[in-house]
Amino acid sequence: MKFWSQYFIPTLKESPADAEIPSHKLLIRAGLVRKLGGGLYTYLPLGLRVMQKLTQICREEIERGGGIELQMPHLHPAENWQQGPRWAAIREVMFRVDGAGDGKRGPREPEYVLGPTHEEVITPLVRAEITSYRDLPKNLFQITTKFRNEIRPRFGLMRAREFVMMDAYSFDANDEAAIKSYHAMKTAYENFFRRVGAHAIAVEADTGVMGGSYSHEFMIPAEIGDNDILYNEESGYAANREKATSALVPAGLADAAPAGALEEFATPGIVTIAALAAPPYSAPADKQFKTLVYVGDGKPFLVVLRGCDELEEAKLGALGFSVFRPATPEEIEPVMGAKPGSLGTVKGTIKNPDALAGIFADHAIRLVGNGTTGANKDGFHLRHVNVSRDLTVTRFGDFRRVQPGEPDPTSGQPLKLRRGIEVGHIFKLGTKYSDKYGAVYTDDQKQNHPVVMGCYGIGISRTMQAIIEQGHDADGVVWPWASAPFHVLICVLDPQLPEAMDLARQLGAAAEKAGADVLIDDRAERPGVKFKDADLIGIPLRLTIGGKGLKEGIIELKWRTQKEVAKISLADAAARVTAEVQAAQAKA
Ligand code: ATP
Ligand code: MG
Repeated sequence: MKFWSQYFIPTLKESPADAEIPSHKLLIRAGLVRKLGGGLYTYLPLGLRVMQKLTQICREEIERGGGIELQMPHLHPAENWQQGPRWAAIREVMFRVDGAGDGKRGPREPEYVLGPTHEEVITPLVRAEITSYRDLPKNLFQITTKFRNEIRPRFGLMRAREFVMMDAYSFDANDEAAIKSYHAMKTAYENFFRRVGAHAIAVEADTGVMGGSYSHEFMIPAEIGDNDILYNEESGYAANREKATSALVPAGLADAAPAGALEEFATPGIVTIAALAAPPYSAPADKQFKTLVYVGDGKPFLVVLRGCDELEEAKLGALGFSVFRPATPEEIEPVMGAKPGSLGTVKGTIKNPDALAGIFADHAIRLVGNGTTGANKDGFHLRHVNVSRDLTVTRFGDFRRVQPGEPDPTSGQPLKLRRGIEVGHIFKLGTKYSDKYGAVYTDDQKQNHPVVMGCYGIGISRTMQAIIEQGHDADGVVWPWASAPFHVLICVLDPQLPEAMDLARQLGAAAEKAGADVLIDDRAERPGVKFKDADLIGIPLRLTIGGKGLKEGIIELKWRTQKEVAKISLADAAARVTAEVQAAQAKA
């Protein structure tokens, strides 16, 4: 039992100027967190209590899914990362720390980094400690603070520089066992999100810089989310747009028959798809080829799309470069022979084809037929361009961004688009890390094999805020029972009356006995202030004890989710509170 007058719940009437979304405003106003700096927050007592509840539920569910808890350092020797497969790709997001130093390392090669995640620490640990098939499977997890130098921290805890994550790593003898671990974790995630009262859905996800094949993200649908989800309720298909595919291009589609010989024509000043689509050229966007130049691990490469399509940059991850980016105009001309706006991949037109790491074409260009593309000569294009006859392509793949309305790949139903907050992620990593760090085990025939890994993350602090984003009204937070900082708030309107405080303590004790956490508002404040604060901090069950009610022999009981206020006789009060708490506990 905590007493508000002695406790620390700094609520605010006004939202801070930098809080743009409801959950961020409420985090501050309801006294859950305070900002220290960009993406850095103090968890105030209420916020800390929520974090502790989420942490405990997460621990229980991950353990039920086979996890074993440990704790790794936050400060990592930079060597661990430099030896790993993604130092180049991820170093910008890491906080680098200088130690006492031997003076040999330059400023760009730090001695330590603050852990953004822990594959680079746990794989060497497992390499050293797990040697035999008898040691497998293992699933090791921790719930700790992570550090990422996010370029644009925003929305409070949603994208912070320091945040709390549950991260788990599974180690199996073979693929089949790894898939089993993956599914056990998927179930653990579903249980966790259900128990904490967050409505999260699993969507197919891109594997990004992590690599690997199986990957799902857990998304909480919300307008302010950073992720686009393409889905269809009927078929059950749901995928992050970065990964989504569609049935737009029929499998095995052959080229249209060429309708004429390749022909160059002058297009002075025409450097956009739209300009070429307009008269006098009138080449519709879906009848054009768009050629983009990227640089992957230092070498330029080309991506060819329909003129009407957009590149889904994340899909370039499948090409295997450890880093890639769009080429600059200065890098393009020497390779292609023309400036952007006149580029193409027609055979023999690229100035320096040997400089290229490859020409990657989206499957949908097969829908173009007789198309138009740049001639790699400023101010000129080519028409009657046909894919097989005229274009150089190293490899076809899925590189375009799927649009809502396209047929879903499983059933052909139209895809819909909604936004979501990523609160969790599961990957089957395969042997990417075990190969790199030499994490092998010996089977019963004394043969060595790399361990097959999976990695799993839940953003605990982001989940706390996402629950608020999903569960609030105009007056404040509406906590689900299991995540609430307290379950029962007893508002004592006349705390100067000893009989009122005695009753509060009695009812508080009854609620605690039934398993609830109890906060007593014993502040000498006006009822209006107390009720406003009660709604703001969102405790599920409110009991109100006032001098007037005591004279009439009643107290009031109200759920945060309901409008009605029940009047309960003093004689029934303890039993009723016990029953309400027990019912809520059973449901949660
Ligand atoms: P995002 O795409 O949002 O940047 P991520 O894909 O980099 O996230 P993971 O590396 O998969 O994230 O981390 C696991 C989980 O940690 C995420 O699902 C998310 O809930 C949480 N998380 C990641 N970055 C942040 C952050 N900057 N602030 C708060 N939570 C985060
Ligand atoms: Mg992710």
